[in-house]
Amino acid sequence: MSQQDLEPLDVEGIREDFPILDRSFDGERLVYLDNAATTHTPEPVVEAMSDYYRRYNSNVHRGIHHLSQEASIAYEEAHDRVAEFVGADGREEIIFTKNTTEAENLIAYSWGLNELGPGDEVVLTEMEHHASLVTWQQIARRTGADVKYVRITEDGRLDVDHARECITDDTAMVSAVHVSNTLGTVNPVSELVDIAHDHGALAFIDGAQAVPNRPVDVNAIDADFYAFSGHKMAGPTGIGVCYGKRELLEGLAPYLYGGGMIRKVTFEESTWAELPWRFEPGTPPIAEAVGLHAAVDYLEGIGMERVREHEEGIAAYAYERLAEFDDVEIYGPEPGPERGGLVGFNLESVHAHDLASIMNDHAVAIRAGDHCTQPLHDKLGVAASARASFYVYNTREEVDKLVEAVEDARDLFA
Ligand code: PLP
Repeated sequence: MSQQDLEPLDVEGIREDFPILDRSFDGERLVYLDNAATTHTPEPVVEAMSDYYRRYNSNVHRGIHHLSQEASIAYEEAHDRVAEFVGADGREEIIFTKNTTEAENLIAYSWGLNELGPGDEVVLTEMEHHASLVTWQQIARRTGADVKYVRITEDGRLDVDHARECITDDTAMVSAVHVSNTLGTVNPVSELVDIAHDHGALAFIDGAQAVPNRPVDVNAIDADFYAFSGHKMAGPTGIGVCYGKRELLEGLAPYLYGGGMIRKVTFEESTWAELPWRFEPGTPPIAEAVGLHAAVDYLEGIGMERVREHEEGIAAYAYERLAEFDDVEIYGPEPGPERGGLVGFNLESVHAHDLASIMNDHAVAIRAGDHCTQPLHDKLGVAASARASFYVYNTREEVDKLVEAVEDARDLFA
C-alpha cells in the first residue's frame, strides 16, 4: 500500500485504550514520551492477560487436564502469531526469552561460546546498545575473539563503506542495531546482512526499536538472528523474542538447561526437545505470551505502516520544533526514512538530568542519561542526552508541551 492510501491514525480513539494516559500530576496531564524505554499497555492486552489468569491459568506442556491444555494451546499460538508478524517460517524459529537482552545472551552463549576462537572477529557498530555491546565484548574475551566497531558518520548514520572494510573473511558474527535507541537512525540492515553473508559470517539484528514501530520481515532482511522485547510494543514486560533461522537453531546447543526442554533424560545424559522448546526451559512466561499475542493483534489492527507513518510524522515535528532553538543540539539524521520515532538532544548548559527533571515538573516524561550507549555518548562528546520517544498515542500538542518545557528550562538556567 502506498503512503497516500493510508488513513491517518485515530489517535483520540487509540488513547481511549490507554487509561494510564489520563493520569495527571499536580494538575498537569501526563505527556508520556519515554516509549523507547517502555510503551504503555492497551486494554485488550490487559484484558487478554486477566482472562488468562481468571479462566485458564495453568502450567504448559505438562498437564493432561483442561486448563493446562488451554494454556498450552494459547502459549503455542502466541509463537505462531509472532512468527507471522515478523515473517518467520514458523513457531520453531521463535524463542520466547525475558527480553532483547536475554535474546542477545542466548545467541552469544549458545553460538558464540562454542564457535568463536582466536583469530575470529565480531563486528559491531558504534551505536550498539549495551545489550549487544557488553554481551559480545564478554564472549569475545572468553573465546579470544576480537571485536571491531563500524563507525558512525558526522550526522549519526552508519558508515557503510567502513562496514565493508571492517567485515572480512575473519568475521564470524556481525551484530547491529536496526534502529538506534539514542540517535533514532534506521540502519540499512539488509545491506549489512548481505555484506556479512558475502564473507561467510552470521548476522544478528537487534530490533528492539524496530519491531514496535515499523513493518519488519526477518526473511526479507535475511537476518540469521533477530531480537525484540514485548514491553516496547504495547505488550507486557517479562517477554522478549529471539528469532533464529531454523537450520541454525537446530545446530545450536541450549543455553539454559532444565525441565521442559528435554526429550529424554537418564542418569548419564540428556537429549533435547524440538524447536523452539529446547531453548525455553522451566516454566515460561505464559501470561506474557498471551499478552504479546494480544499486542500483535492490536498493532496489526492499526497497521504497521500507519504506526510507522504516525511516529515518523511526530518525530519529524519534534525535530523541527527543537531545531528552532540555537542552543539545542539534536543527534542523528534529519527527519526522513533514515530516522525512526525518537529524538535525542541536549540543551546547551543544562544537564540532561536537570532538563528531564524540569520536564517532570510539567508532567512530561522523557528519558535522560546514556540510554545504555555509553561508548556512543563518548563518541558524541557528552555524558548524557535527553530523549523524547513517541508511540501511536502521542500527539503534536504533546510535542508542543515538550517544547514549552525546554523553553522553561532554558529560562531557569539562563
Ligand atoms: N536494544 C535496544 C536498541 C534497546 O533500545 C533496548 C532497550 O532500551 C535493548 C536492546 C534492551 O531491551 P530490554 O531491556 O528489553 O532487554
